[in-house]
Amino acid sequence: MESLTRTFKVQIILFLLTTSAFLQAQADESLPQLIRASQQFDANTTLEDLLTLPQEQLAQNFLNLQMQLMSRSEDSGGGWASNGGEHHLQKDNAWFLGASSISYCIERSSDFFFSKSQLQEMVREGFNEWRAFFSNYKLTRKLDMEGPKRKVSFKDGISRTVSTNFVEVPCQYDQQGQVKEIDGGVVFLFGKKNSTITNYHRVGNVEQLGVAIRKSYDHVNFQSTGFIWIDNFSAQRARMKHMVVHEQGHVFGMKHDSVFVMDEDVAYKVSDDNNFADDFFGKIESKAWKYRLLENVEYVVTANFGRKFLERAREVVAPRNQRPARTIAKCLNQDFMPNITIPKEARLLFRLRPRGCHKFTLKFTQGPRATKVKIYTLKMETLRGTSIVLKGKMFAPKIPPRESFAPGVFSEFKVQTHERTFLKWLRLLADHRSPELPIRGHFQHGNLPLATRITNRKGIFLEVFLPNSKKWWVLNNIHNRFLTKSL
Ligand SMILES: [Zn+2]
Repeated sequence: MESLTRTFKVQIILFLLTTSAFLQAQADESLPQLIRASQQFDANTTLEDLLTLPQEQLAQNFLNLQMQLMSRSEDSGGGWASNGGEHHLQKDNAWFLGASSISYCIERSSDFFFSKSQLQEMVREGFNEWRAFFSNYKLTRKLDMEGPKRKVSFKDGISRTVSTNFVEVPCQYDQQGQVKEIDGGVVFLFGKKNSTITNYHRVGNVEQLGVAIRKSYDHVNFQSTGFIWIDNFSAQRARMKHMVVHEQGHVFGMKHDSVFVMDEDVAYKVSDDNNFADDFFGKIESKAWKYRLLENVEYVVTANFGRKFLERAREVVAPRNQRPARTIAKCLNQDFMPNITIPKEARLLFRLRPRGCHKFTLKFTQGPRATKVKIYTLKMETLRGTSIVLKGKMFAPKIPPRESFAPGVFSEFKVQTHERTFLKWLRLLADHRSPELPIRGHFQHGNLPLATRITNRKGIFLEVFLPNSKKWWVLNNIHNRFLTKSL
């Protein structure tokens, strides 16, 4: 008893020491400090090592793991380990760089809800959809960075892009019949665990539905070795595929909350226990939550996706069933919303009848080439065909650099300035543009300027200030709904 207590106290002190050192190191993103922080506890232990340790040693190192877990706040959803490493050196790094094809194999437990060929199809679809996504947003460019004063390149001088070419191979097995890892490739484990996954579950969150664990990050060839494990959590294809696509996203270096499928709360949403329904389960983007706005593409900010909302609206319009459902039924076009849902002042501004339906879309167009100005257009349409178009210039707030959602790698690169060449740990991104949002400005409505801000918080939010009521009117898409018995 006595010795246990003492050990506990020592552990607490060590824990506090290492945690503060570690967090400090994280803030500085400094490699020597990161190494020192982990050495204080155990020089040889990183998270990847921990996950492959035998059970007895795992217990001894549990504290260290806890410490590392503390560095993450976004670990509530599908796959805390995400990319395997939990410090800045590795977090969110794309697992594979380069044009060569990457091998993966698929293993399933015999009781899994989906057959091998169904799973093969899901995984193949997922990879294809990610490849299309990368090409759509031009994330296939080389990871390099040039500025007026410096040039950054890989240490070996080879330029690299994030790998998007994945090829299935048959799994290999050891003498005990366990699936072998693929060197520089990914093993999908559907409902089946290996020792890495078992250890992860012993120390991690057992509620997880899926996880992507990279054994270690390869800073030389950028070809990591890892596993994707998915629980046998649902017999619904769209939900299962959603988890597959989410974990694949981590392999591409996509960050949590960067796009619909990467929602940090993914496990909560797709679980059969929670009655969420989403027309976009299984897809990377939803109508409500895109990676970014693309030039000249209209983005609907009023999509409703479902009857549940309309039923509620009907209650508002006809509390005593006195009004015909006809006026509401017209809004069954998913991109339209009942006018009754917007503030009265906005209805008056846009001359909307209380019982009609409206649709708002947002798009941007690049201004004159020499300038960086973007013109935003807010278009309002009704089902009767009337439309109003407002234009406005928007600007990014002058705040410190915002973190980009773009995939990339944090690694050691060669920096060349006109004076010297040196090595530095940097994060290079596959997308050099700063995030489109948040921005603010105003839309001009006749003589009336309407202060506006547009943000991306798990989907686009358009907020317009209504001068008379002195309130912000918020427009954003409903991108999921609860299933009810009536549906
Ligand atoms: Zn995740």
